[in-house]
Amino acid sequence: MIQCAPVELRALTTGIACIGSVSVAIIATLSVANLILFHLVNDPTVPLSSRNPDYASPRSVLAIFAHPDDEIMVAGSLVAWRKAGASIHLLYLTRGEDGPTGGLVNRDGLGDLREQELARVARLTGDASLTVLRYPDRRLDSVPLPTLQSEIAARLDSARPDTVVCFDDALGLYGHPDHAWSGRATRELLVRDRHGVRQLAVMTLCDRQIALALKVSRTFRERFRPETGLPPATLAMRIAPYGNVKKKICLAHRSQRAVIDDVQPLVTHVPAWFYYRVFSREYYNLIRLGTDRDVSMQEVSP
Ligand SMILES: [Zn+2]
Repeated sequence: MIQCAPVELRALTTGIACIGSVSVAIIATLSVANLILFHLVNDPTVPLSSRNPDYASPRSVLAIFAHPDDEIMVAGSLVAWRKAGASIHLLYLTRGEDGPTGGLVNRDGLGDLREQELARVARLTGDASLTVLRYPDRRLDSVPLPTLQSEIAARLDSARPDTVVCFDDALGLYGHPDHAWSGRATRELLVRDRHGVRQLAVMTLCDRQIALALKVSRTFRERFRPETGLPPATLAMRIAPYGNVKKKICLAHRSQRAVIDDVQPLVTHVPAWFYYRVFSREYYNLIRLGTDRDVSMQEVSP
C-alpha cells in the first residue's frame, strides 16, 4: 500500500489535471462561441440604457401590445425595470383568439386559455398589472383609431406611466397589421396629448438582428418590407441577468410553442444562461416627448 500510494497519487493528480484541462477547454470554447454569436446578433455601437444621456430610468411603464405573446420581444426589459423598482402595466388590445391552439383547446376556448397564460406572464413580470381587451384578433385595424385611443388613454390615466412601450406604426416589428395599428393608435394619441408620458420606447431590432431574422424566421422573411424598414435602434437594454425569467415568460405561452420557436429560434433547446448571453440586448427607438422630437413625430404623422 505504501509503495502504491505515489502511483495512485500521480494517477489522481493526472486525472484532476485532465478534468481541469477539459473544463478549461469547454469554457474557452463556449466563451469564444458566445462572443462570435453575440456579435452576430447585436450592435455594440447602439448606446446601452445605462450610458445613454437621453434615457431616463422609468418609474412606471405601460407596455401596449396587440396580442398575448407580443411582450416576449421586451420581456427582459420589463423584468429589469421591475427589478429596478418601476411599476409595470401590461395592456393587450386583443386576446389572440385567432392564433394557433397548440392542440390544447378548441378554437372557442383559445381566448380564455391565452388570458390564463397572460396571468402567468404578469406574475413573472413582478406582478405587473394586466388588462386584456377583446378587440378582434387579426382584424384590429377594423377598429377605429379613436376607439382604441380612448382605451389607451384610460390606461394612461390610471397607470400614470412616464414611459410607454409600443410597436412602430409602419411595419409593426415584422409586418403584422395589428401591431402597426396599435403602434399608430399609441403614437398619434401621445402626439396630441402626452398624458404625462416622458418617453416612448418603440420596439425595434438592430440591423444585425434584421439580417439574421431574414435568414432564420419564415414569418419575418414573408412580412418584412425593406422599403419600410424599422425605426433605427437608439437604445439597448442589457437583459442577460433576466434571461431565465424571459425564458419562463416565453414558455408561459403554452399554446404558442410553434410561434415562439419562430420568433425566438432554438430558445426551447438551448439553456437560458447561454441563449440570453447571445440574445442579450433588447433594442428600442427612443422618442423623448416634450422635445423637438415631437415636431418630427407630428410631421411624419399620416
Ligand atoms: Zn402579435
